[in-house]
Amino acid sequence: MSKYVGAIDQGTTSTRFIVFDKQAHIVSVAQKEHEQIYPKPGWVEHNPLEILTNSNEVIGAALARANLSANDLAAVGITNQRETTVLWDRHSGRPLCNALVWMDTRTDQLVQRFARDGGQGRFREKTGLPLATYFSGLKLLWILENVEGARRLAEKGDALFGNINTWMAWNLTGGPDGGVHVTDVSNASRTMLMDLQTCTWDKEMLEQFKIPEACLPKIVPSSTPYGEISTAPLRGTQLAGMLGDQQAALVGQTCFAPGEAKNTYGTGSFLLMNTGTEPVQSKAGLLTTLAYQFGDEKPHYALEGAIAITGALVQWLRDNLHFFDVAGQIEPLARSVENNGDVYVVPAFSGLYAPYWKDDARGVIAGLTRFANKAHIARAALESTAYQVRDVVEAMEIDSGIPLSSLRTDGGMVVNELLMQFQSDMLKVPVLRPKMIETTALGSAYAAGLAVGYWRNIEDLRANWGIDKTWEPKMADADRDHYYQSWKKAVTRSFAWVD
Ligand code: ADP
Repeated sequence: MSKYVGAIDQGTTSTRFIVFDKQAHIVSVAQKEHEQIYPKPGWVEHNPLEILTNSNEVIGAALARANLSANDLAAVGITNQRETTVLWDRHSGRPLCNALVWMDTRTDQLVQRFARDGGQGRFREKTGLPLATYFSGLKLLWILENVEGARRLAEKGDALFGNINTWMAWNLTGGPDGGVHVTDVSNASRTMLMDLQTCTWDKEMLEQFKIPEACLPKIVPSSTPYGEISTAPLRGTQLAGMLGDQQAALVGQTCFAPGEAKNTYGTGSFLLMNTGTEPVQSKAGLLTTLAYQFGDEKPHYALEGAIAITGALVQWLRDNLHFFDVAGQIEPLARSVENNGDVYVVPAFSGLYAPYWKDDARGVIAGLTRFANKAHIARAALESTAYQVRDVVEAMEIDSGIPLSSLRTDGGMVVNELLMQFQSDMLKVPVLRPKMIETTALGSAYAAGLAVGYWRNIEDLRANWGIDKTWEPKMADADRDHYYQSWKKAVTRSFAWVD
């Protein structure tokens, strides 16, 4: 039996390849950023070919670093930025246009068009999702309506749709010479085209959005052998796991029981709670989503609170306002003042997602006085992450009826101890950081490893989870209330900015 399992982690800002051992230790890793393309305000694109090249490069680099070859891997899994939409020519393998990234808001007119007749929630029961610029279905419709020849090719099945997982799998397993055209339930549930109950493409949604079925991938479980990888450097290895990044983190954090939840703090933040084998409809502005399906087992569902901008605000302070040179410097800057000086930053750069779902909101900095300085703004920016997570936790408690007893965290921001403490203070529950915070990659490695018997069952996976550090709430109730009420007031100031 091979010694390791590999994970391709294709994120919004970078692509990583990580090799794990049976105890979920990282054996080797390589990473590369790709270009963020902003053709107009609100538009965000990636070049799918650059992503492929980078992926091959990091796979090669990670294997070389540990002196490994494809033979050393029992299987490989993919985890990916979700919703990001690619349409490519199945004969040439070339994308018809750049990928429309999940946070791209160009579909706002389409959202309005569909919401006019029956409201934003009209497809919620069937798909678990509100009408929003976020999901793939309308991104695909935008391409079909705006890219020359796209609809004609898609209708004939000569152009193929995929999220990044599908694009990668098709290329890894053979590309134009016969790659598999599949997507797993977790990714499919973010297109707004899938029926939550049956996990199949929904005829009515396809009709509504005018999406030809011929261009859609087959929906498959998240953990099952999909096919053999036919391209170097992984040639001969089984591709056997596929999970959207946030669902992968849920699996990597071993949240397999109903009520178990995690929050991932990255570019955006995503809180998911496992709700078991039945979908739970949200009344409080959360998404109902597929969590994972292992082999022939019943699929598991999750409630999700998606927040568009958290770590991206730190990047914005770094790149657009030049407050510091590297993200980690935000912490000493924010600690250089005692508190936020009554400043609140609402980072509604691409509208507000859960639980507000306001496409027309835009960012504000509220409460400025002559006293406020750069450090207060930095502190307020960090705090905005914690407030947004509290907004989502409150919605989660309403929908699930389960009070949160502690929060499992992961993602690039959890190294920030000021944020972790403030988060615990805002939620009034302990915040736990596990030893392994690369949970996204780990989740897809788990899915791949389970499919080929590298791990026997979820108990094997649970045994790998352990806590690195816990933060306990320390703040006085009056202070907590003051901060949170001021935040809520600031949020209302961001609404209805765009006509
Ligand atoms: P993604 O997977 O979404 O690309 P990561 O989980 O790698 O993101 O996290 C990267 C994000 O974390 C960036 O947006 C960055 O600004 C933020 N970040 C990194 N280090 C820190 C830090 N010390 N404090 C606050 N934010 C940080």
